[in-house]
Amino acid sequence: MNAGGYRSWVEISRRRIAENFRAVRELVGPGVEVVPVVKADAYGHGAVEVSRVLESAGARWLAVSGVEEGVALRSAGIRTRILVMADFLESEREALFEFNLTPAIHSLEDLSTLDRMAAERRQPLAFHLKLDTGMGRLGTLAGPEEILAALQAVRAARFEGLMTHFASAALYGSGQTERQIEAFDRVLATLEAAGLAPRYQHMGSTIPVAYARREAWRNMVRPGQAIYGYISPVRGTTRKPLLRVEPAMQWKASFLEIKEVPEGMLIGYGGMFRAPRSMRIGILAVGYADGYPHRLSNRGRVIVKGRYAPVVGAVSMDLTTVDVTGIEGVGPGDCATLLGVEGQVSIDAQEIARLAGTISYAVLCGISARVRRVYL
Ligand SMILES: *Cc1c(COP(=O)(O)O)cnc(C)c1O
Repeated sequence: MNAGGYRSWVEISRRRIAENFRAVRELVGPGVEVVPVVKADAYGHGAVEVSRVLESAGARWLAVSGVEEGVALRSAGIRTRILVMADFLESEREALFEFNLTPAIHSLEDLSTLDRMAAERRQPLAFHLKLDTGMGRLGTLAGPEEILAALQAVRAARFEGLMTHFASAALYGSGQTERQIEAFDRVLATLEAAGLAPRYQHMGSTIPVAYARREAWRNMVRPGQAIYGYISPVRGTTRKPLLRVEPAMQWKASFLEIKEVPEGMLIGYGGMFRAPRSMRIGILAVGYADGYPHRLSNRGRVIVKGRYAPVVGAVSMDLTTVDVTGIEGVGPGDCATLLGVEGQVSIDAQEIARLAGTISYAVLCGISARVRRVYL
């Protein structure tokens, strides 16, 4: 049950990652390039290892947020195309060329700067141009004619993709996604009319893929959470996801001590919990410094020997106390599952997020570097 004496660790199934990737590929079909998103250390799953798995499973592209993330993958020997989605600093421009990274470009000024660098270096850097079609974050707000003129002025760099990102993919009925698609298509039509259609057009992440919003697939999709086995629920439609994926990660922690406490005993910081009767409390070697949310104090639960055990008292920096009264045979060195499945019971990142008042993405990315990653 215990992977080898760690205080807290996550077990990541390589097979699940590969299967989830294949499930996306099968759903979208061969005409749509799948770009798994491995930003933020692959949503806490470990970017290098996950990228290796995806590359062997046939991924031709990966996407990261920053240049440093791309450089780390190159340094680990990853040879797929790498899309850098979340912009770059002036000091990082050289690295785009040196490490053969493909930037999303977010302004027409950056476009001309990169083009000048490509000319000087005689290196025809490919880039994807990102439109702000209504997300109000990164991406150019320039109109179709202005964008066309800027692209026609490009000499050395290579215009390979046109992309955008949805603000409200999970909110069916808001109309925002439809308006974003229209704005995208207005620019695309202008470029096509001038003979400048790019090789790739993309806008969809997990939700438009999973819920089969085909008009948002174009010929490239950028799933992140689906690769790790998650599909967020949506609002405003009765559609069910067509995609079948399974969580790839289980998170565990070891019991340091199990102790009997008398009725009336206060547990942990602030005395947030008072034992209503004599109880057995298990002290787990995990806390908010590991990314186990402090907001789970007195509200979370873990799985111990196939049964739920509630978190009692405050989650502290390095320790968490759970009620194991009535769960037989638990001792120091045994482990609890914080996230995952044991027999009939399970806890996923969405449950933790709901209890902690956050989102599943933040739970997964929040699992800190101190938590050992174990690959199965
Ligand atoms: C993170 C991200 C994605 C992946 O989103 P998921 O919801 O995890 O599938 C896709 N595109 C961009 C631009 C992103 O930042």
